[in-house]
Amino acid sequence: MDRWRTIIEPFRIKSVEPFRMTSADERQGRLEDAGYNLFNLHSDDVLIDLLTDSGTGAMSSEQWAGIQRGDESYAGSPSWYRFLEAVLELFPFRHVIPTHQGRAAERILFAVAGGPGKVVPSNTLFDTTRANVEFTGAEGVDVVIPEGRRPSALHPFKGNVDLEALERLIAEVGAERIPLVMVTVTNNSGGGQPVSMENLRAIRAICDRYGLPLFLDACRFAENAWFIKQREDGYADRAIPDIVREMASLADGMTMSAKKDALVNIGGWLALNDDRWAEQARNLLILTEGFPTYGGLAGRDLEAIAQGLREVVQEDYLRYRIRSTAYLGDALAAAGVPVVQPIGGHAVYVDAAALLPHIPPLEYPGQSLAVTLYREGGIRGCEIGSVMFGRHPDGSESPAAMELVRLAIPRRVYTQSHIDYVIEVVRSVAEGAAELRGMRIVAQPPTLRHFTARFEPLST
Ligand SMILES: *Cc1c(COP(=O)(O)O)cnc(C)c1O
Repeated sequence: MDRWRTIIEPFRIKSVEPFRMTSADERQGRLEDAGYNLFNLHSDDVLIDLLTDSGTGAMSSEQWAGIQRGDESYAGSPSWYRFLEAVLELFPFRHVIPTHQGRAAERILFAVAGGPGKVVPSNTLFDTTRANVEFTGAEGVDVVIPEGRRPSALHPFKGNVDLEALERLIAEVGAERIPLVMVTVTNNSGGGQPVSMENLRAIRAICDRYGLPLFLDACRFAENAWFIKQREDGYADRAIPDIVREMASLADGMTMSAKKDALVNIGGWLALNDDRWAEQARNLLILTEGFPTYGGLAGRDLEAIAQGLREVVQEDYLRYRIRSTAYLGDALAAAGVPVVQPIGGHAVYVDAAALLPHIPPLEYPGQSLAVTLYREGGIRGCEIGSVMFGRHPDGSESPAAMELVRLAIPRRVYTQSHIDYVIEVVRSVAEGAAELRGMRIVAQPPTLRHFTARFEPLST
């Protein structure tokens, strides 16, 4: 590999999806219609959509060929067996249970394992995972290392579990109240930061000591494996599928959203070794998802996942994938735009609190920045700050821990020139940061307000 050469997209483009160019004036009109909430936009009014990397990736020609091959038999379809083989190749758990997306796997797992009084430790539970834990009456507790909570703290594996905090938690609540330990790889809510194999091994040892099952929330398993290969001693020469299998060998099960590292637009699964839990999970699956050989998915979806799993562990793909995220983050950092460091696998997080210190947290600096990026460049990011986390169940408000705007990169969708354009827009907005003003909320629902709240810009 010639290190000085540009890391190019390892694919060429066979089918294109034109987007409609819009002017800043037109986008201002769309913002007013949308109540300055980017979730309310029609996506064809967006030029570069960085709202999420979930289900927004481009499939390959081989995956589309799989879509044609899909066999829609109700039970025992060959597409199911191809899916099963591809999953087991990387994750050799005893039971694989397909679901329509990740949160369905979570719902089923915690319906079986959760319940009132139970406690589920994790590096950081993703929001749907936490919601599914809490829905059963159980409590989720995040025990990520302290560096994982500080945007500018450098650490190669910022998603690691704080082992002492985990032990303390187990001692405090008692192992009998902990149905399982869940580790999110990479740690999405913590900035897409990886977990090291050494940390997984140590968590396994703690779990063994207390007889606790260890589950992976494995949505970005391939991106995590790539970081292990790059950053952890002893892994530079290991093949990615081997690293993934080693991660799996340390766990007793997993939940998966295929919308991330299976390179498809819908799908997921629950996999586990425990026969009793698996039987209960299959019964719940039949109740709400479908028969255990399709689980809410079409045969063609199972084919696309099987092929996606083969493509996502290819090194050319992962080198490009992780580099293209770092390319955006490094360029913004070099231009003096504050971003969460080090750059994670699937997204760049702009630190709006640091960029807009003149806007108080409860005038929503992240929302102001996200709205301005859309108006100035047609770029849609996602506020992750006081709009998302600032309101409590009793209706009171307090600032979130961080005010971030996440620019998530869909897989295989945008080229380097699209990202160069994003860099130009963010830089020019950052240069005029002093001109940005806060916002106020004019209408909001009681919960999950970030999806539907309406805003107004403050004029002073
Ligand atoms: C996306 C995601 C989920 C939920 O998956 P869905 O397919 O969106 O239901 C769970 N955990 C993590 C870490 C995720 O990124």
